[in-house]
Parts: sequence; structure tokens; C-alpha cells
Amino acid sequence: MPEGHTIHALAARLNRTLGGQRVDVSSPQGRFAADAALIDDRILDRASARGKHLFVDFDEVADLTLHVHLGLIGSFHVKRRDQEGAVASPARLRIEGRHHVAELRGPMICALIDESARETILDRLGPDPLHEPDVLADGTDRAWARITTSRKTIAELLLDQSVLAGVGNVYRCEVLFRHRIDPLTPGRELGRRLWDQLWDDLVALLPLGAAFSQILTMQDQVDAAAELVADGSALAITEHLTGERLGDHFERRFHTYKRTGERCDRCGRPIRNQALGGRTLYWCPGCQRRRRR
Ligand SMILES: [Zn+2]
Repeated sequence: MPEGHTIHALAARLNRTLGGQRVDVSSPQGRFAADAALIDDRILDRASARGKHLFVDFDEVADLTLHVHLGLIGSFHVKRRDQEGAVASPARLRIEGRHHVAELRGPMICALIDESARETILDRLGPDPLHEPDVLADGTDRAWARITTSRKTIAELLLDQSVLAGVGNVYRCEVLFRHRIDPLTPGRELGRRLWDQLWDDLVALLPLGAAFSQILTMQDQVDAAAELVADGSALAITEHLTGERLGDHFERRFHTYKRTGERCDRCGRPIRNQALGGRTLYWCPGCQRRRRR
């Protein structure tokens, strides 16, 4: 399932390629045809993301926002018109601009919603570490209020979108490892300082994931990626990405994710896995022992 950084990267891609343009909107597959007509031939004002939810606003469309959630199998590609090849299946939603075409297939949600429905969705979501910095200040407190009163494990709570929005399975496994936290620690037994370290790390890591369209948690890659973002060269590296595949600028390496039985790169013990929160948790029982501090 795409994690939040993918949706933020998608919003940025839509703004870059179609933002501010009058666009043709249609539903080749037909299921969204009536709604597509309501936003056809309008100016695509702005795409934004919160957690795994994408919102697209159009000018001159009073009180209606396009709401998309990709779910497990959805895809939303943005290509240059001259990149368009043979199409596998008709898209649920197609947005055509001057030079680019965006196509949505297989989403869990594709709907036009009004302002109050949007507020309801946002209210149900926990803080998103990728959200605008001005709301980050209390993000850590809001998530903490839920965590510190919960009997659920921190590994489950990290996946709960009402606690924290945007974190998926890879990030949860990897950040818990980075801070040596026992993933089976109940939220109410977790130390506040450990939570603050986790949150600060997510705030630092997720923008790098969004910038490169790949999850980066190995410190050498994190440092290299942060440098490329800081000197402004990240976009040139990822501009060609359409959303069809992950970024590949960095080698795909993780500490624990899908490494069951392999040796931990910190303590040498074999990585273990178990089902937790509906997904497979990977962790090192040797060095992930922190609970309170
Ligand atoms: Zn270890």
C-alpha cells in the first residue's frame, strides 16, 4: 500500500505538471463520468495530501473537492502526452492538461466531496509528519495523547491513521529499529522521550521519501538524500518519475523490512517477523529493547 510520502509526491507532481491549467476531466471507464463532468474544463487549482488521502481543488467549482484514496491496488500516474503508450485498462479518472495526462486506476475512493465531508475526513486523521511545518508544533502532542492512553502496541499505533497519518508498514518497522524500540511496547508504557524521537525522525525521513519517491531509512542514504534536497538537485533526479514505479536513485536497502532470518546489521541476531496490526512486522529481538527511555 502506498505510504503517505507517495501521496505527497503525487500531489507535488500534479501541481508541477497540471497546476494552474485548464484541464479536460473525463472517466474513460465510466464509473466517475457524472462527477467528472462537474470538474471538466476547469482550472486545476491545487492538489494536496494528508496522510494517504489526496485532495484536488478546481477553480470555479463551488464547494467541491476531488477526493482520492488509492487503497491497496490503486495507481495514479502522471505522464507527458508523448510518453503515453498502450493503455492496459480504461482509467476511472483522466485529467488532461497542456503537456501532461494524469490517469487514476483502481482507487479505493474517487469522489467529489463538499467542504463538510472534507472536514470530517481531516478530523478523523491523526497528525501527518509531512503536513505544513506550522501545524507540526502540536502534532507530536496530539499523537502522544492517543498513544499514552492506549493498551495497543506502538507497532500497531503507528499504523493507525487516526493516531498518525501517512505512516505505513515499511516506515513503522524501520523507525522502530532506528530508535531501538521494542515494537511490542504498549503505548501507555512507552516513554515520552522515545515518542518524541520517533516523531522527529518521521518528520525528517518522510520528506526525503517524498522527494525521491522511495523509502530511505539507512543513515548513509538519509544523509546523501538530505544533501541533494538541500542543494536543490533532488527534483532533477526524480522529475522523470510518473508514479508507475518507485524511485531508484538509491539502492533499495532496509534494516529489518522483509529481512526475516537475515542478520541484524547492528547486533547480528536474526531479524524476526510476526503479523501485527494487519501487516507483517519485522524487527530485531536482540537490540530493539527500549520501552521507557
Ligand atoms: Zn539487532
